[in-house]
Amino acid sequence: EQLVTPWTVSVARFDDPQYFCVMNQFEYVCLYDLNVLLYRHQERKIMNNIRQYQLPLQKYMALMDLQEGNERLFYKLLIDNVEELLPIVYTPTVGEACQKYGSIFSRPQGLYISLKEKGKILEVLKNWPERSIQVIVVTDGERILGLGDLGCQGMGIPVGKLALYTALGGVRPSACLPITLDVGTNNEELLNDEFYIGLRQRRATGQEYAEFLQEFMSAVKQNYGEKVLIQFEDFANHNAFDLLAKYGTTHLVFNDDIQGTASVVLAGLVAAQKLISGTLADHKYLFLGAGEAGTGIAELIALEISRQTKAPIEECRKKIWLVDSKGLIVSSRKESLQHFKKPWAHDHEPVGSLLDAVHAIKPTVLIGTSGKGQTFTQDVVEAMSSFNEKPIILALSNPTSQSECTAEQAYSWSKGRAVFATGSPFDPVEYDGKIHVPGQANNAYIFPGFGLGVVMSGAIRVHDNMLLAASEALAQQVTEENFEKGLIYPPFSNIRKISAHIAANVAAKAYELGLATRRPRPKDLVKYAESCMYSPVYRNYR
Ligand code: NAP
Ligand code: MN
Repeated sequence: EQLVTPWTVSVARFDDPQYFCVMNQFEYVCLYDLNVLLYRHQERKIMNNIRQYQLPLQKYMALMDLQEGNERLFYKLLIDNVEELLPIVYTPTVGEACQKYGSIFSRPQGLYISLKEKGKILEVLKNWPERSIQVIVVTDGERILGLGDLGCQGMGIPVGKLALYTALGGVRPSACLPITLDVGTNNEELLNDEFYIGLRQRRATGQEYAEFLQEFMSAVKQNYGEKVLIQFEDFANHNAFDLLAKYGTTHLVFNDDIQGTASVVLAGLVAAQKLISGTLADHKYLFLGAGEAGTGIAELIALEISRQTKAPIEECRKKIWLVDSKGLIVSSRKESLQHFKKPWAHDHEPVGSLLDAVHAIKPTVLIGTSGKGQTFTQDVVEAMSSFNEKPIILALSNPTSQSECTAEQAYSWSKGRAVFATGSPFDPVEYDGKIHVPGQANNAYIFPGFGLGVVMSGAIRVHDNMLLAASEALAQQVTEENFEKGLIYPPFSNIRKISAHIAANVAAKAYELGLATRRPRPKDLVKYAESCMYSPVYRNYR
């Protein structure tokens, strides 16, 4: 250890091949033999540095510097300290980082493509230094978490998501490409902010937007081929559903807000059945929020109930009700409904508030996907607990500030009976002498493994059954020990193993559906997934 300490100044360059060129042979061998020791030491030292920062945003900035300066060490740290660092590089801190992105901006971490580049998007893509790309996460910044339109500053999201693709799912960092499409912003504050990094104009819409997206999608396919996974992230719902439908038949596209969220929530609900001994079909579901997350989850639940019971999906949908900003979605509603809400407009008299809807529908499962915080009030949680022995309550809105209620509120208002999970992490809560651990119902469980499964099988399209396969694999990873703590998700500390299982199940489904192109099909898909996973160890130059 003592030998190592004086070297810590140069260790940041230890992974840099150019540095090796200027070393003499003695240094070279010494350093190589100290490799493992050094790495461990480096890791401890940097974690210690990060823990000294008081503010999460400072930790975020330190981690982003590390990602730039020593990528391998960054991933090693993230993998070995996943539960501690996930809330920094991902929700909730990434939300704050996006809000302040202009003033903390130091380098472009991904590729920005603006309206000004219309007509030469292919050229811009070719400027990215890496040629072989497997996963793109792209946003237009219009609905960043539950924080609204952050324009170009949404870049923090694709960067954070791809960091998780690598750390949790093992996709090589050089194969990941974060992209922000700058089509303007309608956020007045940003338009007037001197440090705003994007175009100072209102959002392009209609034909201009559609043509820009079309050019982008064609350029991606032309440049990277058919097997690059394009993940749409944090688009507003008036574009998200249409983009997914339009490009789902010609490209390998995945919308994490609609599909990834659905898959992770379904897994939690399936796992929850062990705690209340029932099946999905035994429940009545009520959502607050009928956008991408809400209707995406609702549809996958209906699909799974239909698969389990063999009942037509239209029948299964009737067990699911949604509330939007105008109240319960019912067939008699006068104003025209957006197309993604139509399947959920059942016969019922109009109901205005969530509390009234809870009383009218008497759901067994309540799911928050409105992006609005503090909406599961004491009245709502108490009503849920009055007619359910164990109400299932999922407060999915991110970041923490937008959570429908806190873990403490959920457990105390339900007198410790709620089966509860949240989108952003909450600490365990002691209620009535018992420790309750809220699970984190976050799509970070699904998309890294899902992406790995798609990439390793060479899939060319995403199919709903692949989402069900991902969900099934995740639910199977919840152990008895987890259930005893009231958890419906496994801890993130095992996430690489979980991702390998998800990847294997997704790949198996892709082969079964004839959508996989990698031949021959590996026999043991879990082992194969593990062997494909990037691992951040220093290279052997000897
Ligand atoms: P979205 O498409 O914009 O949908 C929001 C929905 O909420 C809309 O239906 C909207 O109603 C409704 N709404 C807004 N304010 C409301 C209010 N006060 N009362 C009732 N309904 C209200 O957004 P999204 O993509 O679904 O995302 C929503 C939230 O879920 C965000 O906070 C996001 O971070 C979170 N999320 C979490 C995860 C996770 O893994 N945990 C994954 C994805 C998303 P109208 O339709 O009437 O406007
Ligand atoms: Mn998202």
